[in-house]
Amino acid sequence: MSLKARIVALIEAQGPMSVAQFMTIALLDPKDGYYATRDPFGAGGDFITAPEVSQMFGEMLGLWLLQAWADQGCPKSPRLVELGPGRGTLMANALRAASVEPDFTNDLEVVLVEASPVLQAMQAEKLRGCGADVSWQAQFDDSLSDRPLFLVANEFFDALPVRQYVRSERGWHERMVTTLDGELNFALAPVPVPLPIIPASREGAPLGGVYETSPAALALAENIAGIIAQRGGAALIVDYGYDAITGFAETLQAVGGHRFVDALDTPGEDDLSAHVDFMALAQAGKRGGAAVFGPVTQGALLASIGITERAEQLMNAHPESAADLLAATERLIGAQQMGTLFKAVAFAPPSVTGFAGFGA
Ligand code: SAH
Repeated sequence: MSLKARIVALIEAQGPMSVAQFMTIALLDPKDGYYATRDPFGAGGDFITAPEVSQMFGEMLGLWLLQAWADQGCPKSPRLVELGPGRGTLMANALRAASVEPDFTNDLEVVLVEASPVLQAMQAEKLRGCGADVSWQAQFDDSLSDRPLFLVANEFFDALPVRQYVRSERGWHERMVTTLDGELNFALAPVPVPLPIIPASREGAPLGGVYETSPAALALAENIAGIIAQRGGAALIVDYGYDAITGFAETLQAVGGHRFVDALDTPGEDDLSAHVDFMALAQAGKRGGAAVFGPVTQGALLASIGITERAEQLMNAHPESAADLLAATERLIGAQQMGTLFKAVAFAPPSVTGFAGFGA
């Protein structure tokens, strides 16, 4: 039975499901979910992420984390966690760059949080022989709360499930996935949700306006911030998204084979994601007790921590690759490319007053 047929059967048995539940099943169903069954990255896959564009991305983030560790007095037994490591490329490049300071890397426990067994295996292959003590878990949980936490996440939060609410004359109704003639279909829940679910900033929404939120993302960000506030460490979260109060549109999107497709058509075959609300993420970090820096654009962050200098260094060492290096740098920081659509936010313990790349 296809994943779509199983979702149809589930809805017919139990009633409509939230957009968040649909996203979770489509992405992570152990048998047929998008991430559970494939390697979606790179030129042959559905999309290319920054670590796959150039080794420089992981190197710069690795050096940023190393600097954050040094600035906090080189705490003992640090833990380096990556959320959703994909092919493991970012971590491999970050560890290599950070190994200029063996006191950091020798003492480091690396934990990769990855739900997909296929991608876990790919990450293990990539990191074989990296010298670090690496382990995996499917979820971020309390076992990661007992040491200084250095955390990085690139294009992870956009994969976390969102819930959507649509304004009507009677209030706000959750947008659900239901069935119509055996096909999947969006429909609004008939009963409006209790008002406290909707933030005051949405009060002026027009009829039909959408409020989209990811409770999973906000709870996770608050949890991470709380650990960093207590134990020390730093988090660097990079993703595509918005850094101002948004309009009233939804941002859920489905991509298959480098093109936009209908989110309900072929669940499990397409990547589903939603823009990350960086202002909400920053607020969640503050609720968790952390000092929050940013959001800044990916272009500004990478430029200010020295990606251009790193590109020059690599060009001198490999003149034959100069054109590729220039193109990759432009792709990562250029305003028309990933430089402004992608943003970064950082969390630190309350005593920290600034971070490289965040206007400090
Ligand atoms: N960071 C990588 C991959 C981004 S894609 C890169 O930049 O190339 C999203 C990653 O998060 C994948 O590895 C996917 O399997 C993982 N993932 C998505 N949702 C997850 C969840 N809820 N729990 C754990 N891992 C998840």
